[in-house]
Amino acid sequence: MAGRLQPNPGLSVTAYNDPVTQTAPQTPPVAPAAPRSPILELPDELISQIAAGEVVERPASVVRELVDNALDAGARQVTLRLLAGGVRLISVEDDGCGILRSELPTALKRHATSKIASLSDLESVHTMGFRGEALAAICSIAEMSVLTRVEDSQESHGWLLDGRSGELQPTARNRGTTVEVRELFFATPARRKFLKTDATELAHCIEAVRRHALARPDVGFAIWHEGKLVAQWRAVASDHADPLRQRLADVLGEDFVAQAVAVDWPLEVPDDGNGHRLRVRGFAGIPDAARSRNDWQFAYVNGRYVRDKVITHAARSAYEDVLHGHRQPVYALFVSLDPTRVDVNVHPTKIEVRFRDSREVHQAVRRAVESALAVPRSAGKAEPASAPETEAAPAWPPASHQTGLAFAPRAPEIGHRVSDLEALWGGASSAAPTSPARTDAWASPRPLPSEAGQPSAPPHHAVRAEPAEAPPHPLPQGEWPLGRAIAQLQGVYILAENAQGLVVVDMHAAHERIVYERLKQQMDEEQLASQPLLIPATFAATPEEVATAEDSAVVLAMLGLEVVPFSPKTLAVRAVPTTLSQGNPVELARSVLAELSQHDASTVVQRARNELLATMACHGAVRANRRLTLEEMNALLRQMETTERSDQCNHGRPTWRQVSMKELDALFLRGR
Ligand code: ADP
Ligand code: MG
Repeated sequence: MAGRLQPNPGLSVTAYNDPVTQTAPQTPPVAPAAPRSPILELPDELISQIAAGEVVERPASVVRELVDNALDAGARQVTLRLLAGGVRLISVEDDGCGILRSELPTALKRHATSKIASLSDLESVHTMGFRGEALAAICSIAEMSVLTRVEDSQESHGWLLDGRSGELQPTARNRGTTVEVRELFFATPARRKFLKTDATELAHCIEAVRRHALARPDVGFAIWHEGKLVAQWRAVASDHADPLRQRLADVLGEDFVAQAVAVDWPLEVPDDGNGHRLRVRGFAGIPDAARSRNDWQFAYVNGRYVRDKVITHAARSAYEDVLHGHRQPVYALFVSLDPTRVDVNVHPTKIEVRFRDSREVHQAVRRAVESALAVPRSAGKAEPASAPETEAAPAWPPASHQTGLAFAPRAPEIGHRVSDLEALWGGASSAAPTSPARTDAWASPRPLPSEAGQPSAPPHHAVRAEPAEAPPHPLPQGEWPLGRAIAQLQGVYILAENAQGLVVVDMHAAHERIVYERLKQQMDEEQLASQPLLIPATFAATPEEVATAEDSAVVLAMLGLEVVPFSPKTLAVRAVPTTLSQGNPVELARSVLAELSQHDASTVVQRARNELLATMACHGAVRANRRLTLEEMNALLRQMETTERSDQCNHGRPTWRQVSMKELDALFLRGR
């Protein structure tokens, strides 16, 4: 800072600070002096109208505030009635605690609230409101009335308060409150002009209620417009097995939950010895369910709907490896944390929050979503076709993306021989003998960490050498989720039969993901295992390739590659990653060098690690047009069932599809 203020010897100080005067060094233009006005305190009404400008943008803003209040009052049922998209009337009726007659006039005053009384309350608000300005602000720009009754008051009736006149009169009413807002913006016609059509305003109002509804399955909501019921979500019974799932299905549709995985990430964050809980729950859509717009991303902090960059970014980055391009994931995520660790008072409508430690929130959200998505769906589909709906919730502790899957695979046995897997590697060398030295990571999947108390994964060599021509018996329950391979189609797809019907697998895409995940796992552990080539593979290299190879020797070693200059124009590949040992070493080296040359060698492993590994995986994956035996195909299916993220290829496309018997029957107009 100090440096900027130093007078520059070549320029006058003003010219240095002001580029405009620098190019036009005449005297700077002087603003015409405004006539001095006296300083006055603003009248209350005007202050409220100014506040209303921040709080109330459109009818939906009023809806949000009034529903906030109803929920704070402990309502079980909230009913909204609208006329003309909410511009002519917004009425929100609840069955909450009501307002005492004596406090009723105060409720409409500015900065009047029952929710906080001190600064320390402010730091730990559990309610939706606390600023005490919503009713006052709305009252200043619309005609408002409040009809309310407190149950245990001696009076047998409720009270109606006219916001404009302040007049109070007794009226019949059950426990609860109805706030009516008519002719929004009647006093500020300029703002009224900004409103869109009734249909648009109605849509915004419904959206506002929908956001509340997602967070409160225990509360029923109904929305009436012009006398017609336009949306209704009944309260989910408290003994329901999964109220959140039910509410999401009601509000966002059964498809949303059918295409989503449950997220549940309890995390103990050590914090100055005491530790506090940070929890992320909800549902995250599978990559297939992604949309072109980001309109199905619901994030909540301590029950409050928020638009928060930290959460949005964390969620998006959890999809990084499975969703490419501009597709937008769908999710409803509920973050709960100690209220003292989040400031909800940074925005007048409380739609933004500030975290004390945004990194911890980012990490938790990212890990929560990532680990929920990592579990391959095929791993949870071993049930017979008759009970397909509920996705298995990830086990707790959640499968760490570093240690592989935290559940034992359900496939009872792995029916392949090691040599079948080996054969997948080489182009033509399918007759490779099985030597112990060659049981590399692909051939022998790392034993899955079996949780204490759970049956451990069967040893991978418990071979049931199934004859490839096994007759297609109906599959017993608990069979392999991705079924039994029955054929290969045009050298591209594997067809398999499972309990639901037909499984179609994109063989290259699936294998690429398996190799990629394996490379990532090895890299997490330290570096890729390397295998020297008996005969180094040499190739004519460009000067850039030679230079990159020399500069990046350390990085190459981490990647399990040894590429050394052989002559000024030739490079020799002397070792390749064991996992990729059957691929073409020259192609592999070339593409890795090309990638490395685009990055700064010293940081590439941190910053572009996954891209690099993806490139390498592509070279290691089985190519299209390779004929596979049934045993090889089965081996690939079994690998998919136990590989994280195997439902998507490295480019975010699906690797397999289920075609159910029902769909097949429909194709053939066959009734069952
Ligand atoms: P805030 O919600 O921030 O407290 P408001 O202006 O929205 O401010 O409401 C002022 C007060 O009026 C609330 O604190 C609450 O005590 C009371 N109130 C408003 N709406 C309701 C309602 N639907 N049921 C019961 N009390 C209400
Ligand atoms: Mg409020």
